[in-house]
Amino acid sequence: MDRKRFLLSLAALPLATRAMQLNDLKAVTDHFKPSERMPVLFLGHGSPMNAIEENEFVVQFRKLGNELPKPQAILCVSAHWETKGTRVTAMAKPRTIHDFGGFPPELFAMQYPAPGSPELAVETQQLITSTPIELDQQWGLDHGAWSVVKHLYPNADVPIIQMSLDRNLSPEQHYRLAQELSSLRDKGVLIIGSGNMVHNLGMVAWDKLNEPSYGYHWALEAREKMARHILNGDFAPLIDFRAQGRAFDLAIPTPEHYLPLLYTLALKKKEEQASLFNDTALGGSLTMTSVRIGKQ
Ligand code: ZN
Repeated sequence: MDRKRFLLSLAALPLATRAMQLNDLKAVTDHFKPSERMPVLFLGHGSPMNAIEENEFVVQFRKLGNELPKPQAILCVSAHWETKGTRVTAMAKPRTIHDFGGFPPELFAMQYPAPGSPELAVETQQLITSTPIELDQQWGLDHGAWSVVKHLYPNADVPIIQMSLDRNLSPEQHYRLAQELSSLRDKGVLIIGSGNMVHNLGMVAWDKLNEPSYGYHWALEAREKMARHILNGDFAPLIDFRAQGRAFDLAIPTPEHYLPLLYTLALKKKEEQASLFNDTALGGSLTMTSVRIGKQ
């Protein structure tokens, strides 16, 4: 139920019940305590195998988990959940979704039993005014979320929700929607975009996956330009990614792995630093570049 409908439904109730329901709403919005401003992350998730493999990328994810202040909750925007309209997961116990095929049984056996946060889902719904937010009871945690978050918080003890990517929004609209999440950073919520900035699966050099930092010329060009814009705080060309020429067009054949980056960048305050890690090409047509914004 959105805030307007919630309030309308209150009007139809007897007074005593109405007071009780308003208290419930207050309890929800007071659930998260003020905190030091949390960092914001974009994590290049790469192959689902990163969930169970040991490699240079997951070493960095683990290091990050040890360095960051422990969040009260996580909100993750994953490349792997696209919907009509924007949704947030609102179940108490999100299931681990194995949304891939052709991988070994141990990857399908992997579970990430972190709790959900219906409270954060409702708070997020109330916070966003540019577009309606639907509370979702069907999804769970897809591998864009759990395959990376498990390295940051291996004990699965931080409540987590996902926010979907609305297929109908323009890049500018995604960016503006993300800005509306800003106050959650001051309530102990770690916001994570999970995707890959350069992600052209159709062109992967499968025989070169083990060659370190192997990237096609256009992938290296896109990687270099994206990194420069992020570090310079020059986000306009990154939002207008369709006008950046051939390297960007090849790097972003479909937008879903790129758009979570815009959610991360939109939350950067002017005075904050951005830094990169795992900033390397892989298999010719992918990059694992990840971003950390906030206290370094
Ligand atoms: Zn992916």
